Amino acid sequence: MPPRTAVFFHAHPDDEALLTAGTMAMLAAEGHRVVLVVATAGERGLAEMEPGEELGHTRLKELYESAALLGCARVECLDYGDSGLSPKGGIAEDRPDNAFIDADSEEAAGRLAAILREEEADLLSIYDPAGGYGHPDHVQVHRVGRRAAEIAGTEIVLEATVNRDPLLRLLRLAGKVYRFPPEFDVRTFESAYSSGETITHRVNVRKYTRQKRAAMAAHASQASGGDSDRTLAVLLKVPGPLYRLVFGTEWFVRRDLPPGTRLRHPLDRWPK
Ligand SMILES: [Zn+2]
Repeated sequence: MPPRTAVFFHAHPDDEALLTAGTMAMLAAEGHRVVLVVATAGERGLAEMEPGEELGHTRLKELYESAALLGCARVECLDYGDSGLSPKGGIAEDRPDNAFIDADSEEAAGRLAAILREEEADLLSIYDPAGGYGHPDHVQVHRVGRRAAEIAGTEIVLEATVNRDPLLRLLRLAGKVYRFPPEFDVRTFESAYSSGETITHRVNVRKYTRQKRAAMAAHASQASGGDSDRTLAVLLKVPGPLYRLVFGTEWFVRRDLPPGTRLRHPLDRWPK
């Protein structure tokens, strides 16, 4: 396969490590150009540091480290404000003026489309319409990403997601032998992400779990966050064999393919 260019669009630093790190590392190892774009610096993430500009700087530094570990050729931040999350998990009222969720989606899409055009991107990775677990910035990544691909004419749009069926099974099983911290609620996975039947791509990234784990560890500010509801801290404590089982696959939905399609590589069934 000749080298292609894949752009991975994420909401916050650390999302790339959780959702698409294995696929990114795999594509880079195969000689493709991998570009990482984040909408925000994640300056309102839950961390031991106070939210704000300094946390944003720290998180961007962590993002560069993670991107280097995964073999990314370029990293861009669109510099929107992190919209944060209300205590109930919805849209935060005290969000900044330039919050990504309030951005004009046409303008934001235009900025991402400019990168897609400059890179002559063959593939854009975004999120499913639910935004995974429903963070407003993640829902916005779906909207903005879809439109950017339209503007730039990017042919392959993949929605990075998690197959919640095996994840739920494994988490319930793991819960019997492994005590999850109290803030980790398995039930939040019941309506999040995507069910197996909608998923078109199951990418085996077992060869890259070490890189994925290192990318996650690079986001140290998030792993140390106090009583966070973030999953990252929890995931990093998952024992190695379980980690490889849960994180050995990454899942994507490509909406222009018929349901029931089962592909193994993000660039499979190239349209031309
Ligand atoms: Zn995020």
